[in-house]
Amino acid sequence: MYHQPVLKNRRTLLERAEKFISDIYFTDCNLRGRLYGDTCPLERLSVFVSPKRMSYSDAVGQQFQPCKVGDTFGPTWWTCWFKVSLTIPESWRGKEVHLRWESDGEGMVWKDGEAVQGLTKEGEKTTYVLTEFLKDDEPHSTTLYVELACNGLFGAGQGSMIATPDPNRKFTVQIAELVVFNRNVRELLTDFEMLVDIVKLLGEEEQRSYQALFTANEMVNLCDPSNPGSFSAARDLAQKFFSQRNGESQHVVHAIAHCHIDSAWLWPYEETIRKCGRSWATVIGLMEKNPEFVFACSQAQQFQWVKNWYPGLFSQIQTYVQKGRFIPVGGTWVEMDGNLPSGESMVRQFLEGQNFFKTEFGHFCREFWLPDTFGYSAQLPQLMAGCGITRFLTQKLSWNLVNTFPHNTFFWEGLDGSQVLTHFPPGNSYEMKGKVEDLIKTMKNNKDKGRANHSAALFGFGDGGGGPTQLMLDRFQRVKDTDCLPRVQFSSPDRLFSELEADSGLLCTWTGELFLELHNGTYTTQAKIKMGNRQCEVLLHDIEVASCLAWCLNKTFSYPSHRLQELWRKLLLNQFHDVIPGSCIEMVVKDALEYYEEIRSTGSSLLNVACEALGSGDCTAVLNTLPWGRREVILLTGCNDVQPRLALVEVPSVGLSVIKELLQPTCPVTVTTKTDGTFVMENGVLQAVLDHKGCLLSLSLVETSREAISDRCAGNQFVLFDDVPLYWDAWDVMDYHLQTRKPVVEVLKPAEVGSNGGLRGSITFSLRISSLSTITQEVVLDADCPYLKFNTQVNWAEAHKFLKVEFPVRVRSSSATYEIQFGHLQRPTHRNTSWDWARFEVWGHKWADLSEHGFGVALLNDCKYGYSTYQNTMTLSLLRAPKAPDANADVGRHEFTYAVMPHIGSFQEASVIQSAYNLNFPLRLVPSAADKANWSAFSVSPAAVVLETIKQAEADDNALVVRLYESHGSSVTATLSTSLAVREAWYCDLLECPDPKRQAAITPTGILLDFRPFQIVSLLLIL
Ligand SMILES: [Zn+2]
Repeated sequence: MYHQPVLKNRRTLLERAEKFISDIYFTDCNLRGRLYGDTCPLERLSVFVSPKRMSYSDAVGQQFQPCKVGDTFGPTWWTCWFKVSLTIPESWRGKEVHLRWESDGEGMVWKDGEAVQGLTKEGEKTTYVLTEFLKDDEPHSTTLYVELACNGLFGAGQGSMIATPDPNRKFTVQIAELVVFNRNVRELLTDFEMLVDIVKLLGEEEQRSYQALFTANEMVNLCDPSNPGSFSAARDLAQKFFSQRNGESQHVVHAIAHCHIDSAWLWPYEETIRKCGRSWATVIGLMEKNPEFVFACSQAQQFQWVKNWYPGLFSQIQTYVQKGRFIPVGGTWVEMDGNLPSGESMVRQFLEGQNFFKTEFGHFCREFWLPDTFGYSAQLPQLMAGCGITRFLTQKLSWNLVNTFPHNTFFWEGLDGSQVLTHFPPGNSYEMKGKVEDLIKTMKNNKDKGRANHSAALFGFGDGGGGPTQLMLDRFQRVKDTDCLPRVQFSSPDRLFSELEADSGLLCTWTGELFLELHNGTYTTQAKIKMGNRQCEVLLHDIEVASCLAWCLNKTFSYPSHRLQELWRKLLLNQFHDVIPGSCIEMVVKDALEYYEEIRSTGSSLLNVACEALGSGDCTAVLNTLPWGRREVILLTGCNDVQPRLALVEVPSVGLSVIKELLQPTCPVTVTTKTDGTFVMENGVLQAVLDHKGCLLSLSLVETSREAISDRCAGNQFVLFDDVPLYWDAWDVMDYHLQTRKPVVEVLKPAEVGSNGGLRGSITFSLRISSLSTITQEVVLDADCPYLKFNTQVNWAEAHKFLKVEFPVRVRSSSATYEIQFGHLQRPTHRNTSWDWARFEVWGHKWADLSEHGFGVALLNDCKYGYSTYQNTMTLSLLRAPKAPDANADVGRHEFTYAVMPHIGSFQEASVIQSAYNLNFPLRLVPSAADKANWSAFSVSPAAVVLETIKQAEADDNALVVRLYESHGSSVTATLSTSLAVREAWYCDLLECPDPKRQAAITPTGILLDFRPFQIVSLLLIL
C-alpha cells in the first residue's frame, strides 16, 4: 500500500498549514477564501449626520439622505445614523446570512428600537447575524439602523494613540452588504489556527508540538476547500488531538470574559455611555448562543448609565445577572485611581458601588476589581474588608519599569494588618483573545507555580472593542482539556477565588502599598483636576458635618441626602483612573472641571442652607468642622464689619463660636527688613529669614533655636526640570529628569513686605521661570501658627517642563513619612536597591514629614500629591507640562498653597496631622445671634484618633454615622465625647451595616473605643 511521504521538514509542513488558512496568500484556493459565500448589495442605504449624540427615537424621525459604500462622513465626534434596508435573496434558503459591515468608527445595530450588537472593526465585530438558517416563513426583508460614532476604539489620536485627537478625521464605510457565511469553514479554520499556534508556541522541544504539526498537515491532505463534504474528516482529526487529555496535576486557567471600559480617557464621558451599550449588547447576544459563557463587569456608574440610556438592554442584563452569568464585580462606583482619592472618597466609592449592586442586582460584590490603575494604597485591604470584600484582582504592576513584582497569587496585607487574597492574572493582560499564546503565558509567567494551581485569563476587547467574540469562546472550547496546555474553564471571579482560597496554605504575603514603578507623573498632571478633587472632598465633608449639626439642633431640618449623593457621584466619577490622574484628553478635562464647578456651586448653597440653620442673627460665628479646637487668624467679611479684616478666633472641636471680643495673639507677628536686604518674620513659634528672591535662608523654632534649613542651603527653592518621558507623556516622569535640574533664580519683582505684622506678616515677590511663565508668591506667617505658608500663583505656559519646590532640611533619616488614606507610611530617602530608587517620585496626601529623633520638618499642601525626599531634601511637585493626550495640559494660571512646619518631637506629638487638616479645611463664617454660647458637638481624645466623617446614615434618617481612624500608628483606647443626645451607638462596617453583637458602651465621659494602629472605626449613632 502506498504511504504518502512526510519528510522531516518542520518548516515546510508548518508553512503549508499556515498558507492553507492565510488571509493574504492563496485565498483563491485555500480554506480562508471560502469563509464567505455569495454576496448581495443592500436594497437601500441612507444616512442622517449629527454633531450630537441622540436617542434612537429622536434619530429615526430625522431626514435621511441616500448614501453609498465608500462614502466618507465626519468630522470626529459626530454621529451618523444609517438606515439599512435589505432583502435576502430567495435562493439563500437554508444558509446562514450576515449583514457584513466594515467602517471606521464604532457602530451599534438597532433592531425594532432595541440596541442589539456593536460593530467595531478594531474589535473584530464586523458582521451581524441576520439568520443562522434562512427559512421560507421568516421575513426576508427588514430595516435596521446602524448608529456610527465618529471616533475609533481609542478616540481619534493624530498619528499616535495618545496624541491629541484630530478634530477633522473622516470616517468611511468600506463594506455594507449581505453575505452567506459558511459556519463549517469558520469552525475548521479555528481548528487549524489553534493547531498552528500549538506547533509554534510549544516549539521543537515538545513532542506535542510535532503531534499538532502532523495533525494539521494530515488535515490539509484530507481537506478540499471546494468540497465541504471533506471537512468533517479533517475536523475529526483535530478533535482527536484536542481531546487527548491532561494528567490531574495540570494548571487550571479560569477564562473570565471581560470588557475593560475606561469611563473616560481618549473620549468624553458621553461616548463611554455608548461604548457600554455597544459592548454589553454584544455580550448579551453571545450569552444567548453560548450557555456556558459568563461575563464579569465592573463599575456601578456604567450600569447606571446603561440603565438610563438603554433600559431594554439593562433589563436583559438584570435577567442574566440573576442567572449568574452577567456578573457585577468590583463593588465600586468607578474603577478609581488607587492613590489620590482620600480615605473617605474611597469609602464612598465602595458605598455607592455596593449599594447600587445590592439594589439593582440583589447582592454585594465579593471581589474588588481594579486591573488598570497606577498603584494601590496600603489602606485598600482594610477598606475592602470593611465593605464585605476579601478578594482583589489587578495586574497593572506587570507594567513596573524597574522591578518585577514577585507574586501572582498572594495575601496582600494593608497598613492595619488586614489581609485580602490577591490575584494578578499571570498573562499580564485584561484583554486576552483566547489564543494558545494567552494560555501558555498564563501558565509560564505564573510566579506561584506549585503554590497556586489556578489563574485567571481575562479575555475580550476593552473600551470600544466591545468585549469578547464568538471566536474567542470557540478557541477556549477546543482546548478545555488538551494535553500539554493548561486546562481551561469558563469561569467567574467567585469560582477562581474560591479555588484559590481552598488551597492557600503555601501563599506568600506582601505587606504595604503596591507601588507602580511607572506613571509617577500622574500625581501632578492636570493640577486643576487635583485641586478640584481636594477642594470638593473638603466641601462635601463640611456640608455633611454642618447638615448633621443643623439636623441635631432642629429635627425639622431636611438633610440633603439626595443632593449630596448626586455631588458625591460626580466627585467619584472624576476619580476614574484616567481622569484624576490627568491622563485624559482636553474634552474630558473640561467635563471634569465642569463637574467640580457644579459640586462647588451646588455644594456652597447646601453649605449655606445648613449654616443658616445653625443660627441666625446680626453677628458672626465661626464653624469648625474638624474634631479639635482651633485658634487661627481668619479674614472676617460681612457682618458688622464694613471692611474685611483679620481676626484671631478660637473655635471648639466640631462646633461653633460667636465672635465677640477680639482675641490677642500670644505673641504678635513681626516682620523686619534687614540692611542686607533679607526679611525676618517671627511669631514666637517660628523665625523665618527670606532673601529678596523669596528663598528661605533660615527657619528656626524660637523656643529651642533649632534650625530647620540645611547649612549653606535655602528652602522654598523653585526648580525646573526637563520632562520628556519615553512615551506616556501625561503619565510618566522618568528618573533621568532629575539630571536636568535648574533653579529658578530670575527675580521679576524682589521681595517686599505685604503685611507688616500683628496678626499676620507677609512678604511678596515674583520670579521669572522662563520667557513664558512666572511665579508670584506671598509668604505668610500668622500669629500662633506653627507653620509658614506659601500662597502661590503661577502663570504657566511651558512645554515638557516640571516645576517643583525644594526644602533641604537639617534632618537625617533613612525614611520619610507620607500621608495616605486614613494613615501614613514610610518610604526610603536613599537609593540602595532598585526598589528604593524606583520610588524617585512618590505620592502623598496633605503632608509629608522628615524626622529624626526629637525633631523634624513637615511639608504640607492644599491640593498637591507628588512628593520626593532624597537624602535631606524634601521636594513638592507643583506643575507639569505634558502635551499628550491634552496639548494644553496645565497651561494657564494656577493658585495653590503649601506650608513648611518644623517641629520638636515626632510629627505625631507635634500635631503635624492636625496642622495639615487645618490648612485644607477652612474655618467657615456663619450668621449667629450675639448671645449664642460656644458649642461643640463632638470631641475625641487622645489626639491619635481622628474623627474624619459625620454623616446621616444611609438607611436611617434618625441616625448618624461617624467614622474615626487611628492616625499615629498606635494602639489606643479613645473616648468620643458628644453633646448630642445619643441613645445608642453600634459598631458598623463601611457600608453602614451595624454589627448586632457589638454595641459601643456609652459612659458619662463618652463612647469608649479601642483602636489598633491605623484602624478605621465606624459607628451608627441612634439619636
Ligand atoms: Zn483603564
